[in-house]
Amino acid sequence: MAGLSCKMSCDHIFKYVIIGDRGVGKSCLALQFTDNIFQAAHKITVGMEFDKRTINVGSKTIKLHIWDMSSDETFRYIAKLYYSWAACLLLVYDVTRRETFTHVSTWLKENREHASANVTVVLIGNKCDLSDRRLVTYEEGQQFAIEHELLFIETSAKTAENVDKAFVGTSAIVLKNVEDGRL
Ligand code: GDP
Ligand code: MG
Repeated sequence: MAGLSCKMSCDHIFKYVIIGDRGVGKSCLALQFTDNIFQAAHKITVGMEFDKRTINVGSKTIKLHIWDMSSDETFRYIAKLYYSWAACLLLVYDVTRRETFTHVSTWLKENREHASANVTVVLIGNKCDLSDRRLVTYEEGQQFAIEHELLFIETSAKTAENVDKAFVGTSAIVLKNVEDGRL
């Protein structure tokens, strides 16, 4: 059951896990969503970082617990722990670095091994503000998402474009999965 019970202050707690190659902007997306801040200097995530934000979906109050995973190989052995109870996976690549898009398949394989079959997976093409350095088109991301039945969105953790949408927009789908007993 991914909709963890929540006493008093909210109706549900949803665990959101952010994954993807190092440097794609996972920590910046989490920080932009929770604190409306953009951090220009790359700060390497060691192990895992944890953020929270409370949102409203219709009449429901939802606490999002956001797990920001290190992409470092050293920590892959505890990947199973990160994925357990996850209601939503945000799989991020960098639209200016093609290899991060190529690696999305590898991340998906790990998801399928460890996460619940009904977890909502959102493919996120981040850094869409860097239009002059873009190497992965919107259409490529969208096509991949259609083929693998993922949600798709492009974001910028720098300008905050679509950041709320990536988290809040998906929570209605997660809520429906929880309410219908699929998670
Ligand atoms: P992580 O390793 O995936 O957690 O990546 P970080 O969140 O630490 O970001 C890596 C680098 O990319 C940092 O220098 C950020 O400032 C930069 N960055 C992250 N998101 C964006 C974005 O949307 N636009 C731009 N221009 N830079 C970004
Ligand atoms: Mg990080």
